[in-house]
Amino acid sequence: MAQTRDRILFSREQIQQRVAELGKQLSAEYKDGEVVVVSLLRGSFIFTADLVREMDMPVNVDFMTTSSYGHDETSSGRVEIVHDVRTDIEGKDVLVVDDILDTGITMRGVVEHLKQKNPRTLKTCTFLDKPSRRKVDVQLDYTGYTIEDLFVAGYGLNLGDYARNLPYIFVRETVEE
Ligand code: 5GP
Ligand code: MG
Ligand code: MG
Repeated sequence: MAQTRDRILFSREQIQQRVAELGKQLSAEYKDGEVVVVSLLRGSFIFTADLVREMDMPVNVDFMTTSSYGHDETSSGRVEIVHDVRTDIEGKDVLVVDDILDTGITMRGVVEHLKQKNPRTLKTCTFLDKPSRRKVDVQLDYTGYTIEDLFVAGYGLNLGDYARNLPYIFVRETVEE
């Protein structure tokens, strides 16, 4: 009989340590000013909450919600902005934060959208990166871990409607008994 088993890729402790390192790097990057962190909902809410608390400077946090279509049919997938940032980012240093960079379509769409608002700088950060799945070119400035082509969940990432609240990142595997 087939059963499922959850394999942990990154424990709560590993995640905490890596997020703290990223926070230090970002604190150095933005040490001379303030930064607008744009968090992509829903997947990045936990990572963003942890990351901004490791950043040692004035941080303005804003949120965007996107929805994608054409993802699997075409490499020119488009991203719909369901909820835009409310902050005026013109002339500001902006950091876009997401849970994972997969095909890159979401991040590319968000970056193109935000660039039109003329930020001073625009950088990207995702906790995970799956480069083997990339379909479009997008610059990733900061990332926590590079992973293989696996569907992961936990730490903000969903498995169906659940698992976003789990403090670790895991893969659900099917095992034959
Ligand atoms: P992309 O546009 O880069 O293909 O996809 C990015 C979005 O797809 C992420 O923000 C996330 O919501 C979702 N995604 C991509 N890979 C995974 C995964 O392994 N697990 C989960 N739960 N979501 C994923
Ligand atoms: Mg999702
Ligand atoms: Mg997402």
